[in-house]
Amino acid sequence: MMNDNAQNLRQSDLAHYMHPFTDTEALGKEGGARIITRAEGAHIWDISGNKILDGMAGLWCVNIGYGRKELADAAARQMNTLPYYNSFFKTATVPSIELAEQLAARTPAGLNHVFYANSGSEANDTIVRMVRYYWELEGEAQRQIIIGRNHGYHGSTSVTASLSGPHMHGQGGVPLPGFSHIAAPYLFGADTELDAEAFGIQAAQALEERILELGADKVAAFIGEPVQGSGGMIVPPASYWGKIQRICKKYGVLLIADEVITGFGRTGKWFASELYDIKPDLMTLAKGLSSGYLPISAVIVGDRVANTIIHKGSEFVHGFTYSGHPVSCAVALENIRIIADEGLVENAATVGDYLQTRLRDLKDHPLVGEVRGIGLLGAIELVQSKSPRRFFETKGEVGTRCRDHCFANSLVMRAVRDTMIISPPLMFSKAHVDELLEKARKALDSTW
Ligand code: PLP
Repeated sequence: MMNDNAQNLRQSDLAHYMHPFTDTEALGKEGGARIITRAEGAHIWDISGNKILDGMAGLWCVNIGYGRKELADAAARQMNTLPYYNSFFKTATVPSIELAEQLAARTPAGLNHVFYANSGSEANDTIVRMVRYYWELEGEAQRQIIIGRNHGYHGSTSVTASLSGPHMHGQGGVPLPGFSHIAAPYLFGADTELDAEAFGIQAAQALEERILELGADKVAAFIGEPVQGSGGMIVPPASYWGKIQRICKKYGVLLIADEVITGFGRTGKWFASELYDIKPDLMTLAKGLSSGYLPISAVIVGDRVANTIIHKGSEFVHGFTYSGHPVSCAVALENIRIIADEGLVENAATVGDYLQTRLRDLKDHPLVGEVRGIGLLGAIELVQSKSPRRFFETKGEVGTRCRDHCFANSLVMRAVRDTMIISPPLMFSKAHVDELLEKARKALDSTW
């Protein structure tokens, strides 16, 4: 590709394309976007021909890796047979039924019903309506409030940004009323003498305190990502989820697991709910469901909520033109087949262990305050001083610089404030981990 072409595209991009989560003016000052043109396995290429290791699997989603022709073939087959039909008004399509059956079989016991949407945001938006409708049908319409957590991320529609932590609040009338947030189980960020397990119990206890403050009869549900992702990759202590579940049960509060990132193998299990023995009433899935090859998401609804809606309710007045899109469903089915047949969940566990061990090698670096992670999720938290621990007052400026140095070293790592995030494709090998860490260390040295 010619450089002139790249330059022209960058200018058109700046002139016409409003990117999500982007300061366009700042992007312009930096010369514009890096344009990605192709990808294979765990690598992407930019328009200038640079080969870059994708340590983020796109946006935590390309679980099977890039370039899997089987998915393109599945899409083409379905497009040639039935490119579109809806699941409104008493119709369905073969792939949407088969995928619902697969999802019911693969997710934890009791989650047997699937409601489709097109993104993680839409799935979580659907959940908010669904749980409130459930309580209306149960004769407790005053149960409206949904409790989420600081550092939580559940999407960027007005409703799901409200559901997300305060870092998503403040623009465009968000948060809406009806949402409440408690602290995250973020040990490294906490000023505490407690050990991890005691801290986990204390962090969960905040849920009970909030329920009592709000009035148990007002609380509809609690939502959490089993491992918090884009709010800073926060791995909960082992004690946390058990206590959260006991509290939800005690007050009849529905438990929602947002597995948009953690689903489909990322933590070394099919779903992180298995890892922490979480038995959610509802679960949301997206990203790894199709490995990002096409947009699709799903709410997996447990029997308790589904039976009420099906048997006590009438029509649930909710859905999208593309809910259960047959091409997306066909691609998701092929994606799940590949994850299962190629043992990618097991690979995520094995290579994930290696990643976690190798990440610890970075602890000697003067910028690194903590490394943490689970499976093929990793985080490197940068600090101004290790002992006593001091975070950067510039809040994110150093992380952004480190991310830019990574890119210059042909590595994609994401920065959440001053925490560097790793979430690569699940087909990552130990050699990929070595490549990633070598480039990461160079980027840390350049940042320092
Ligand atoms: N939930 C979680 C845990 C996420 O990480 C994300 C996106 O990063 C979402 C929901 C929203 O998904 P989407 O961007 O597909 O709307």
